[in-house]
Amino acid sequence: VIEIRDLHKAYGELEVLKGVSITAKRGDVVSLIGSSGSGKSTLLRCCNLLEDSQQGEILFKGEPVRWHGTGHHRRPADPKQVLRMRTNLSMVFQQFNLWAHMTILQNVMEAPLTVLGRPRDEVEAAARRYLDKVGIGDKADAWPAQLSGGQQQRAAIARGLCMEPEALLFDEPTSALDPELEQEVVKVIKDLASEGRTMIIVTHDMKMAHDVSDHVVFLHKGLIEEEGAPAELFGAPRSERLRGFLRSTS
Ligand code: ATP
Ligand code: MG
Repeated sequence: VIEIRDLHKAYGELEVLKGVSITAKRGDVVSLIGSSGSGKSTLLRCCNLLEDSQQGEILFKGEPVRWHGTGHHRRPADPKQVLRMRTNLSMVFQQFNLWAHMTILQNVMEAPLTVLGRPRDEVEAAARRYLDKVGIGDKADAWPAQLSGGQQQRAAIARGLCMEPEALLFDEPTSALDPELEQEVVKVIKDLASEGRTMIIVTHDMKMAHDVSDHVVFLHKGLIEEEGAPAELFGAPRSERLRGFLRSTS
């Protein structure tokens, strides 16, 4: 679904990605791990073109992003392609980002209605189905502030699902949550993985990365230091840096 080839990204002088390649095929769950500042969020945001990049290719369902200009002047050339990618790669953030002035149901319905222009009754039925799926069907008419953190994050996941995306991109979906609420969200992510959803997950939760991933990528200072199947990567890490990182997180 998404393929990144040799991506380079800098903020001014600061090189954050120095030639990174990752692929998530249909049904794959890819986890990105690494120290703070290694470039995980930046890489995720490059996937759906929320960030510009200066060099390298991004392909969505085999279709390369078309660019205008080069280097620091490089921008996506086709707004329709950008919109198609944004709507097909739903992003779930650490801080949920629900609209405070809308009910949970309205939050979930908003983008399919306004961005995709789908019929209201159809969207409402889908929204209720996804809220049930993440276990908060009874909260449809509540306001975000009335929900626990774990419930808010599950609402944000339902909102992502309601776009019927090709893939879900998660940036630290459990980091803002207390441990017991974290498990509610981990369970939803595990369910989505077992359904064969395509997902890229940035996480500090090594147990979740181990349990849900087909492939794990360890980023270090903007480069892939090591990658592989979770059993190998966590069970027999080859690089000293990864061993040190895993010690620091356990
Ligand atoms: P964390 O685990 O703390 O979330 P991360 O791996 O997600 O870290 P990024 O957020 O991708 O790291 O940041 C990588 C580097 O890019 C950091 O040095 C950060 O300071 C820098 N950076 C990120 N966003 C910006 C920005 N908008 N402007 C300038 N520098 C940025
Ligand atoms: Mg980050």
